[in-house]
Amino acid sequence: MSVLIVGSTALDSIKTPKAENPRLLGGSASHAAVAASFFAPVRLVGIVGDDFPRKYVGLYDRHGIDLAGLQTKPGKTFHWAGEYEVNMNNRRTLATELGVFETFSPDLPKAYQNTPYVLLANIGPDLQHHVLDQMKKPKFVVADTMDLWINIALPSLLRLLKRIDGFVLNDSEAKAITGEDNVFVALKKLHKLGPSHVIVKLGSHGSVLSSPSGLFLCPAYPLQKVVDPTGAGDSFVGGLMGWLAASKGSIDKNLRAAMIHGSVVASFCCEGFGLTRTDRIQRSDIDRRVAELKASTGW
Ligand code: AMP
Repeated sequence: MSVLIVGSTALDSIKTPKAENPRLLGGSASHAAVAASFFAPVRLVGIVGDDFPRKYVGLYDRHGIDLAGLQTKPGKTFHWAGEYEVNMNNRRTLATELGVFETFSPDLPKAYQNTPYVLLANIGPDLQHHVLDQMKKPKFVVADTMDLWINIALPSLLRLLKRIDGFVLNDSEAKAITGEDNVFVALKKLHKLGPSHVIVKLGSHGSVLSSPSGLFLCPAYPLQKVVDPTGAGDSFVGGLMGWLAASKGSIDKNLRAAMIHGSVVASFCCEGFGLTRTDRIQRSDIDRRVAELKASTGW
């Protein structure tokens, strides 16, 4: 089955203590779409300006991503600039320039409206609502968010939580919404806001799922060198949705394996700037790391 992904399609300028890379292909939807594409057909909904490099369209094409929902408009592509500290878990946003995203209000292609798996990747919650409004009985809807939207659009985000099945956010965002430092208490409070499945991401420490089938502690792949973690969260949830869409049986039966596969795709994302490393891997690279994780976490 297919996954529909809406989110930012961006040019990212990323600075780490070791290097600086301007105008890489980025955005929550780009990372999530490439990650999901290793497992299932992907439909991308987004917008880029007329400055968007052709080679990045080529990258989406290489991964077989359906671009009927990607608009090109006169103007500038969404641009995000960020800088990492020596501890790569700490990042500062230097610039967010919405460009053509400012007026983006997509009408989904008819063929997209019946997509069973929907990922509302990180973008303003009003836009997430707008896309969800056009979907016809999706099977599983997951949303991601970020601190910016919690700060400036909380009422809309809280309304969204009542409309979705799964919510994925990181530990500091969970604390910002619930006021809770303890992840397990925060998970309980997040369920009360709507979603039956909540995943809190813990950076290099993995993630925690709380669902009707209980808790699952998902490890991160043990990387020895992180080049650029930008997009790791998006790769995680993209890989997760791709795996679910490709799997038979109930969501609850498949969700743990989906998280492990998402976690492994995210590990590749961290090994290169932007999408440069993820772009070059094969499904067999993912399978190898999944087997390693299995061997090092089971008993
Ligand atoms: P992550 O590292 O998973 O938090 O995702 C980073 C990606 O989010 C980058 O590729 C950015 O282009 C994108 N991004 C940053 N700020 C925003 C924003 N305000 N809205 C949507 N996407 C954003």
